[in-house]
Amino acid sequence: MSQARGDLRNRLAKARTQAAAGAADRARRGLTAFAEASAARGVSTTEIVAALADGTAAVQLGRVGLSGAPFPAGLDCARGCAFCCILGGADGGTITEAEARALHAALAPLAGRPDGRDWHPDACAALDPETRACRAYDARPMICRSYVSTDVSACESVAGGTAKPGPGTLGPYHDYLAAIGLGRAALKGTRRVTTYALARVAAAAVEGRSPDDTLSEARHKPSELDAELKRSRRDAGGARPAGLP
Ligand code: SF4
Ligand code: SF4
Repeated sequence: MSQARGDLRNRLAKARTQAAAGAADRARRGLTAFAEASAARGVSTTEIVAALADGTAAVQLGRVGLSGAPFPAGLDCARGCAFCCILGGADGGTITEAEARALHAALAPLAGRPDGRDWHPDACAALDPETRACRAYDARPMICRSYVSTDVSACESVAGGTAKPGPGTLGPYHDYLAAIGLGRAALKGTRRVTTYALARVAAAAVEGRSPDDTLSEARHKPSELDAELKRSRRDAGGARPAGLP
């Protein structure tokens, strides 16, 4: 094993995050397996570090988890049901650099067309205001892929600012967040790991800003990932979706 590969392995083993212990353990195992499988395929340590830094590895981990996760019975989710795309405040949720770039690439060709905010002022700009379907479906970030509900009326209440049981985030989202946090800790002092505001990325993309300007406008402060990790730890310890049976 090369020195750089061994160093990365040690950094991942020692990294600490504020995520729930279960999510942090799964994320550490997942990132270590990602690094080792990549190296076995001939991927350089530099490229593996880049995948940790831009969140590609965390996204892959989250998607693998979602593909194997049993979805709770009685889900109300359907195409065109978009109360969950009404995003509170100007943030809309935490996404990685890889997700921000993919979302921008999917939306940039749609710049200047009517967007979700023509349906609802707080809706995600990626939404189609007529069909209420996501116009960046294949590029939608983990937070969108893992948010589900057993009660659409509760989602409408949440969108209006009143919490109600029913909606929740599936466990793999918490593992993904933990992986971002662990990646940031493991690369500390060598590479910056940044996160972005979903709503600001979508809005800037459809308003025609360049990828670099979009990322610059939408970049989170490091404390925002810390706050999201704390919320994740509170939310059923990252083990099961809050509010779901
Ligand atoms: S999370 Fe709620 S608003 Fe979103 S698709 Fe599911 S039921 Fe509809
Ligand atoms: S990216 Fe798509 S799924 Fe996610 S909030 Fe925006 S419109 Fe909804």
